[in-house]
Amino acid sequence: MPEPRFLLDGMLGSLARWLRILGYDARYARDLPDGELLSLLSEGDRVLLTRDRQLAARAGERGEYLGGTDLDAQLAFVVTRFQLELDRGPSRCTACNGRLRPVDRDSVRQEVNEGTYDGHCDFWRCEDCGKVYWQGAHWKNIRKRMERLSRGPGSTPR
Ligand SMILES: [Zn+2]
Repeated sequence: MPEPRFLLDGMLGSLARWLRILGYDARYARDLPDGELLSLLSEGDRVLLTRDRQLAARAGERGEYLGGTDLDAQLAFVVTRFQLELDRGPSRCTACNGRLRPVDRDSVRQEVNEGTYDGHCDFWRCEDCGKVYWQGAHWKNIRKRMERLSRGPGSTPR
């Protein structure tokens, strides 16, 4: 199965960000009218994730309706439905959806603060916007959420 790529409607900004953290291509269409969303969809191989039941129906097989507003539940659903991997490490820019490349530590020295530079060996850079990434303290929270997700749907406290 080819890796799934996603298109998310304006209601799903947090989910888009988290799919990127997981390393998946998640295009977030914040202000696009339905018609344009659908024509974007017909151009590529993306799956539409939407909170709009009618829009999901119009997208046919490529539409996936997400009922709940709880982020954990949404993530768990998408992870299960598309069999996403949870242990890929940083590979997508959470800001712009660009691809991340591992970069030489010395090359980011001027761009991160000293504590960050001293405390980390591995850095990544977005190919599109140039943002630098490392697995800082926030990565602990990311791991926690992934552990929760890996226990599967149904384990999420409601
Ligand atoms: Zn970027």
